[in-house]
Amino acid sequence: MIPSPPHGHVVLVGAGPGSADLLTLRGAAALRSADVVVYDRLVSDEILALAPVGALRIDVGKTPGGPSALQEDIHRVLIEHARAGQTVVRLKGGDPFVFGRGNEELDACAEAGVPCEVVPGISSALAAPLAAGIPVTARGIARSFAVVTARGGDDTAAYDVPFASLAGMDTVVVLMGRADLDRIARELIAAGRAPATPAALIERATCPDQRVLRAALSEIARCADEHAIASPAVLVVGPTAARGASAQAGPLSGRRILVTRPTTASAQLIAGLRARGAVPIEAPLIRIEYLESLPIESFADIDWIVLTSLHGVRGFARALTASGLDSRALAGVRIATVGPKTAEELERVLSVRADLVPQEYRAKALVAEMLGAIATNETVLFPCGTLARDEVIEGLRASCAQVRELLVYATLPQPPSAGAMRAIGHGLDAVLLYSPSAARTLASSLGALGATPVVCIGPTTAQTAHDLGFPNVHVARRYGDDGVLELLEHLLADDRAPDSTVHDPASGKRAA
Ligand code: SAH
Repeated sequence: MIPSPPHGHVVLVGAGPGSADLLTLRGAAALRSADVVVYDRLVSDEILALAPVGALRIDVGKTPGGPSALQEDIHRVLIEHARAGQTVVRLKGGDPFVFGRGNEELDACAEAGVPCEVVPGISSALAAPLAAGIPVTARGIARSFAVVTARGGDDTAAYDVPFASLAGMDTVVVLMGRADLDRIARELIAAGRAPATPAALIERATCPDQRVLRAALSEIARCADEHAIASPAVLVVGPTAARGASAQAGPLSGRRILVTRPTTASAQLIAGLRARGAVPIEAPLIRIEYLESLPIESFADIDWIVLTSLHGVRGFARALTASGLDSRALAGVRIATVGPKTAEELERVLSVRADLVPQEYRAKALVAEMLGAIATNETVLFPCGTLARDEVIEGLRASCAQVRELLVYATLPQPPSAGAMRAIGHGLDAVLLYSPSAARTLASSLGALGATPVVCIGPTTAQTAHDLGFPNVHVARRYGDDGVLELLEHLLADDRAPDSTVHDPASGKRAA
């Protein structure tokens, strides 16, 4: 029998407007199964990171005015990889069919006989106005909206927008309009829109460095130049564009908080920040890499296992699996965790309950309580990271316990991404630090922070931050996310209006 050729396919995925959590679940699932990812300029690193580590990543992004991959070359790349039997995810900003040339790629695949599936995305045409609090329709005020591009077929030449027909639309949304803003505004006015019609320009919508500029239609181009609003930006013109100027409500309304812990550990905290009206800026300053540890033969001579972090738990679980063992091997071994979160993770990944969780969730308290429970000469296994806390090891050894370290993960420094740096450049109200190593990366990548409060998860991190010269260091009194949020509310509770906004003095309006 002749073997049939391998079957690959292409999935055209809309990546959404910017923020990684605005990607659809179906888009995320497609990415996770990708062999090859072909992506555009506006797609964030965070979304790309969802693809398997080994997936081939191909950048075909265009910078405005700069060189771009030819559309035909993109088609060729998609088809070649699919024909080689691979799952090719073609990631495009927003929705693939809204000025994204997705249809051309779909047609090219069809012509080549390559199966192609389309996953819609949230278009910036809708998300950008919404991110600025502008409804594109509003009963009795705006019953129609139109979305147009200001660029021609090859995205470079100016395109003849049918301005006359747009004059009858309540809301006009313009994509790729930044370079022609002045002409667009003038033409809309010439076609009958009042010069005083509210307009808004939303730069990098839904990203932490989003800016919103509001002005009258006749003023918007001048104001955009004045404030150096750059592409990508969406222009909204119409009666509802004046809306949404008030900042999001909440005790941390508009506060810009730098979260430096790896994203996977921060989901709850980020949700808590957003619920309070804050703008979380994610810049993980450390990266965790799990290590191949020596195989564990048996636990016969182990009396205790002590776990002091989520990564310790996960790394230990991996080591157990890699040794061909499972939780049954832990029967008879007692387990201590530093706090309830670590204990929860232990239950989640190994279905094992901790025997000892100290009253106070700190390494010192853990050692003190263990010393009360442990017999002399008992053996403690400590699955730890490369920056193991000597406090635990020394403390236990002092009581004559045998401590065996099992190195299961490494903590590596990671400087903020370019996007995070831009967001940081727009101002910070507080920085959250979860480890001494993150404190060191912060100092080396951002330098002095002035009086910006640095909120630390515990005294060890705070000490490092202090030693590094940060002048305004605080420690949460309660453990965990709640303690951090409580402290932030306390520190930032003054009546200074938070302002990451652009003020337009000419029209006397404030942009939110
Ligand atoms: N398919 C995309 C649009 C591609 S055209 C979508 O559905 O969103 C590129 C234009 O989209 C940019 O010039 C800009 O006008 C707009 N755009 C895309 N992402 C944006 C963002 N995060 N903020 C503001 N505008 C954005």
